[in-house]
Amino acid sequence: MGIAGLVFSKTLRDKGKSFVVIDNPKQGATKVSGGVLNPTVLKRFTPAWNTVEFVLKAAPFYESLARDIGQQVLSGVAIHRILASVEEQNNWMVACDKEILSRFLSPEILKNKNTAINASFGLGAVTQAQIMRPYALLKTYQDFLENQDLYIKDQFDYQGLIVSKSFVQYKDVKATRIVFAEGSGVVHNPYFTLDVSPKGKKVFVGNKGEYIIIKAPGLQSQTILKGPVMVIPLGDDLYKVGASYGRDDYSTNTTLVACEEISAKLSKMISCDFSVVDQVTGIRPTVKDRKPLVGCLQNSKSVSFLNGLGTRGLTMAPGLAGHLYDYLENDVQIPEPIDIQRFA
Ligand SMILES: Cc1cc2nc3c(=O)[nH]c(=O)nc-3n(C[C@H](O)[C@H](O)[C@H](O)COP(=O)(O)OP(=O)(O)OC[C@H]3O[C@@H](n4cnc5c(N)ncnc54)[C@H](O)[C@@H]3O)c2cc1C
Repeated sequence: MGIAGLVFSKTLRDKGKSFVVIDNPKQGATKVSGGVLNPTVLKRFTPAWNTVEFVLKAAPFYESLARDIGQQVLSGVAIHRILASVEEQNNWMVACDKEILSRFLSPEILKNKNTAINASFGLGAVTQAQIMRPYALLKTYQDFLENQDLYIKDQFDYQGLIVSKSFVQYKDVKATRIVFAEGSGVVHNPYFTLDVSPKGKKVFVGNKGEYIIIKAPGLQSQTILKGPVMVIPLGDDLYKVGASYGRDDYSTNTTLVACEEISAKLSKMISCDFSVVDQVTGIRPTVKDRKPLVGCLQNSKSVSFLNGLGTRGLTMAPGLAGHLYDYLENDVQIPEPIDIQRFA
């Protein structure tokens, strides 16, 4: 299960609907993701798409999830963008004056006091960013569902699914509907009839991301550092650094190329020694127009999709799940930019 499956099943639970999650927990982007809920695009100093709506929905949703599972889900975190030149300092100040961004960016340019960080033009601070530990969260939530007999550990076999207008059946599970929230695994789903990369019109594009985990006792940073790569503190002098972008790549092995590329970018950001202790990889479920894929491809609501969460799935998932639920249960139209029908 990834974040899409988690949030949709919680949405059903909150509405008093019965459900069961069928999942092969070995794969997935969510598990390896940085876990950062960042309302801005720090490469270009712009707000993320629809950021205010998604942030407003995500915060109370994850607080409610924390109450369900009895464990904190989100923590506030500072993100410091390394400003690389006077021009970037100016761009930062211009961005801070924009209406949406003024909520999320601090207008004061911070002086860098950490000698292990190369930031002679200072740092721009993002406010209202949050972080979660996705791997631990998914494990806890899986246990939570398992204790209520709501979780089946299984590689879903599409051939075993029976779909009719009024019900779906998979093995001995009979239900009104099935929602596929399978991330990049959707490329194996015969009910998903859109073009997937690298063939055809490439509506759905797998984008491989790799992180390296480094040990850097000299860095002593508690904030997330954003430069050519993102450096996320994990505690015990460990940091998650990355991520790489590999368009049309569905392979799940870690690569030396990504390790070297990330290490080279990191070396420009910090001056202390570091050693690479681990490397992880996942496939981002991205879409040609960079918007999610929500809803049904056929006329019936028996089979639907919650996918295309892209590079910012953790922030968007609660809002998207709400749209899908409202459509399936209350016939509320899915907003056009995220409706999977735009490609059908
Ligand atoms: C390296 C990297 C870093 C990222 N960092 C961030 C970040 O900091 N912040 C952020 O918001 N987003 C980040 N993202 C993006 C984010 O991880 C994704 O948008 C999100 O996790 C997608 O969630 P999902 O549930 O759609 O897919 P997934 O997390 O991939 O989950 C799909 C699940 O479906 C299961 N599945 C698929 N097919 C089957 C089948 N046939 N049978 C059984 N189970 C199946 C898989 O095993 C998996 O558990 C990052 C992504 C990567 C790769």
